[in-house]
Amino acid sequence: MANIVAIVGRPNVGKSTLFNRLTESRKAIVDESSGVTRDRHYGKAEWIGRTYSVIDTGGYIIGSEDIFEKEIRKQVQLAIDEANIILFVVDVATGLTDMDKEVGNLLRKSKKKIFLVANKVDSSARIHDVHEFHALGLGEPFGLSAMSGGGTGELLDEMVAAFL
Ligand code: GDP
Ligand code: MG
Repeated sequence: MANIVAIVGRPNVGKSTLFNRLTESRKAIVDESSGVTRDRHYGKAEWIGRTYSVIDTGGYIIGSEDIFEKEIRKQVQLAIDEANIILFVVDVATGLTDMDKEVGNLLRKSKKKIFLVANKVDSSARIHDVHEFHALGLGEPFGLSAMSGGGTGELLDEMVAAFL
């Protein structure tokens, strides 16, 4: 059965970096500035013999805050429609933002399996910073570093356990 995993979250949290990590590709465009991934990227990935599809949802939005938020809402809704598992990425370096809360509200209403990913946990000192994301009401955050790969194994083990 086809498992489809969508990566959502506000711009710059590391969605494309995580996509690249999972698919081991350089297909998604990673950049310092917000909104650089121009489109949704689809890739194939595998963990302990289970293959799945991954969607990197982009913020290809340059313009007003309004359009920005509307686009993110659209991307989240598309992800909810298309995927059976959603990785909701937040950023411990920035901490919890209003936009994270908005995305969280949309996701909580969906019936899909959601994993909360607290990215940019680059060192063990940072692991305590994941706790504030409990406030999103989406369960235990998985602290990891998409950049180094640290902590991704725990998430992937849980994720494949939730596969169809
Ligand atoms: P997206 O907009 O959510 O797709 O975010 P990107 O994947 O483009 O990453 C945004 C920025 O965060 C880039 O400069 C990445 O190198 C950086 N980044 C991504 N993952 C990590 C991480 O685990 N640790 C740190 N320190 N930076 C990261
Ligand atoms: Mg991106």
